[in-house]
Amino acid sequence: CGIVGYIGKRDAYDVLIQGLHRLEYRGYDSAGIALGRADGSMSVYKSRGKVADLEASVAGKDIEGTIGIAHTRWATHGEPNDVNAHPHVSQSKAIALVHNGTIENYAVLKKAIEQHGYKFVSETDTDVLVQLIDYVKQTNGCTLFDAVKEALRQVEGAYAIAVMEKGKPDMLVAARKSSPLVIGIGKGETFIASDATPIVGYTDKVVYLKDNEIALVKRGRTVEIESLTDGSPSKLDIKTLRMS
Ligand code: GLU
Repeated sequence: CGIVGYIGKRDAYDVLIQGLHRLEYRGYDSAGIALGRADGSMSVYKSRGKVADLEASVAGKDIEGTIGIAHTRWATHGEPNDVNAHPHVSQSKAIALVHNGTIENYAVLKKAIEQHGYKFVSETDTDVLVQLIDYVKQTNGCTLFDAVKEALRQVEGAYAIAVMEKGKPDMLVAARKSSPLVIGIGKGETFIASDATPIVGYTDKVVYLKDNEIALVKRGRTVEIESLTDGSPSKLDIKTLRMS
């Protein structure tokens, strides 16, 4: 029920775990995190239970990385367990995705994707989305950004998503429809979150992603936002958070 993403100079793990704690008030049954590194490696850790359980489960593991996505789940499709927790990773192991919301036509999409040789390890609707993005990307030979755009055209339902690609530690993709997503614009660092609470204290400059918008977040650069409906660029509407 919560998403956090980070790309910048800090240890992503610290920002993401703190962000998940700040989103705990929304309620959840499991949590997970994906971290990317400059050498192209990616680690994914997830666990049923509290954010503290996730933290305990990564003890002694590699938590390096300056890019990452994290999630607290409120299960809608598939019981709360380690496998169904997010991030979900594509069969190719190249794409990791976190999702809030529900994919209504997931059964139809799943059937179509299975015909292309994809096997599903989890019972979630989200799994279908990450495999679909992977399939589109491989078939079209396109970028992650274009693959997410194309995949979302086939999706009915509600979503806020954050996506990252193994071996591409300088880029995150985020999109939303009927579920909120905020982008925090810092100095040389960018945050993604379900609401502003994980961003507070790092930057007061935020962009509220609108329905049917997709964002390309590049390391050290300004965020680019496009409409999912007609591909037109959206102007960055930066708001200043007012702390009381
Ligand atoms: N529908 C997804 C699932 O059941 C996402 C749930 C959520 O919003 O946390 O895994």
